[in-house]
Amino acid sequence: MNGRILTCVYCGHEYPQGTPAAGSEVLTEHIKVCERHPMRKAEADIALLRSALVGLIGADSEQELRTMEATMRLLPAPDADKAVSINAIHALLATMPHNAGNNATAKPSAGSSG
Ligand SMILES: [Zn+2]
Repeated sequence: MNGRILTCVYCGHEYPQGTPAAGSEVLTEHIKVCERHPMRKAEADIALLRSALVGLIGADSEQELRTMEATMRLLPAPDADKAVSINAIHALLATMPHNAGNNATAKPSAGSSG
């Protein structure tokens, strides 16, 4: 008998009967939308940190950020100061909300060079 119903441990959502306990697309689809999944907290934290960084850097869109990075590199400021700002710009680029998911481009960080 397969009478057991698999439920989400966070919210109690019942999966269709016969859903395997792991590896099913039904599970991953629910995790994306489950309001009690720990990922929601992580996403909220990222959004909060992003908004704080956006306030510091003064730019949000990818275009603005890339322009700002290019400008930053040309500024006659100490490299250490530039690195701080450029790292912040990279952090914002790496966490763009519309990128969330598949293949975020991971580039080597060009922070500290001698
Ligand atoms: Zn759930």
